[in-house]
Amino acid sequence: MTTTTKPAQLFINGGWQDPSDGATLPAINPATGEVILEAPLASKQDVDRAVQAARAAFEGDWGETTPAERSGMLWKLAQVVEEHGDELCRLESENVGKPAEVAAGDMEFTLDNLRFFAGAARILEGRAAGEYMRGYTSMIRREPLGVVASIAPWNYPLMMAVWKICPALAAGNTVVLKPSELTPVSALRLAELAADIFPAGVLNVITGDGETTGASLVRHSDVAMVSLTGDVATGVTIAREASESLKRVHLELGGKAPVIIFDDADLDAVAEGVKVAGFWNSGQDCTAATRLLVRDRVYDDLLGYLAPAVESITVGDPRTEVEMGPVVSEEQLQRVSGFVDRAKASGATVVTGGAARGGEGFFYEPSVVGDVGQHDEIVQREVFGPVVTVQRFADDDQALAYANDVQYGLAASVWTTNVNRAFKAARSLKFGTVWINDHIPLVSEMPHGGVKRSGYGKDLSLYSLEDYTTIKHVMAKFG
Ligand code: NAD
Repeated sequence: MTTTTKPAQLFINGGWQDPSDGATLPAINPATGEVILEAPLASKQDVDRAVQAARAAFEGDWGETTPAERSGMLWKLAQVVEEHGDELCRLESENVGKPAEVAAGDMEFTLDNLRFFAGAARILEGRAAGEYMRGYTSMIRREPLGVVASIAPWNYPLMMAVWKICPALAAGNTVVLKPSELTPVSALRLAELAADIFPAGVLNVITGDGETTGASLVRHSDVAMVSLTGDVATGVTIAREASESLKRVHLELGGKAPVIIFDDADLDAVAEGVKVAGFWNSGQDCTAATRLLVRDRVYDDLLGYLAPAVESITVGDPRTEVEMGPVVSEEQLQRVSGFVDRAKASGATVVTGGAARGGEGFFYEPSVVGDVGQHDEIVQREVFGPVVTVQRFADDDQALAYANDVQYGLAASVWTTNVNRAFKAARSLKFGTVWINDHIPLVSEMPHGGVKRSGYGKDLSLYSLEDYTTIKHVMAKFG
């Protein structure tokens, strides 16, 4: 089921262009290890061409478009993506190893995101105007920034592309999108599908790595804003690079979500919830339920529910009816194995799983690791794979202290039937999202984003559109 092995081109200024040199990077099917596409490694010159096209579009007719016109184009994009939904799901499944159910789930939410942003384009506003000095009227204009560099990760390639490009376009910016070097396939197809919808130069898609392509985008003087979803270390590098020109930076970085399970929680519901939230997309989700904190007296009871739930997850070739596929790459497989092996060596207990599955492809067993401590590496650092840890706490204060005691602040959940506990926890947890008695659902209308080293800026919701604009004060003297 090879997509193509022909070197692809770059989507610049409304059409396909050859890269300046022949360097390519392979995109691999993680279920088989086969190369499915050789995508160009865009050079500094290619980046410059894409940015110049985006700049010219921004300064041209795109700058005259009304919110209704931009909304109409985004709506059309949603339609075209829906019409090609099965094909895009297949590409995503092939490039990321997503089972059909996961790819279809991504597609459903991606379409909802597209339609939300199409609508949201029309309701951006500044605060009311008025006279704040006698004889003068002030007004606020909300304006786009210019060329936005959108840099996406590999775990949800199409959805992350949509989260980045849609609010930027809705707000009137132009975009250069760079998908992850591991997963360029769906973004290239998206460019093709969008080609007849947006004017030339409004949406450009270039492939390549972080070191050359990404870094050239970040350093480009005509890029007004860089929006990254990726690793904390990448966010730090980009923020540092961007500080030279003081361009705006929007960072959605890693997570290490705690799942606080009080002794009055419905343990069966917790186990079913974690089965999904810890292992969906092979656990390669920045909000994944990775770190279970359990009241000590129900620790064994919880494992009694959790172990069979996790053992019931079907794993295998994403083309067959399974719940979980491989992790994205050989490197990711080694990373996940390394975390679990080191945890075992330092005294943790493997409740279930705990090993790579042999044979072709990059498969790791759905795993639960118990008897871990607050300072253990596997508790403090993002594994980004199908592994959850289970840790005991002695009282409510300790639960909240442990939950907050990590460098990340993206998402958390609390499981209890006591409303006071739930709301106290929701207030105390230093994370961008807190769920009560569930973990992982997101909606287009609500913001997604973190605090601490999970970054800053919001995806989804009207808050994300605002992040892609600047406000201008206009003051007129009258009389
Ligand atoms: P990554 O940081 O390695 O790569 C992300 C993107 O940044 C890629 O396109 C890469 O080419 C690019 N990049 C790397 N170095 C760069 C540089 N110096 N300059 C410019 N661009 C550069 O992350 P990844 O491994 O692709 O994705 C996994 C990470 O993403 C995890 O940490 C995960 O938690 C995070 N993530 C966060 C969210 C969120 O919403 N907060 C969502 C999904 C994934």
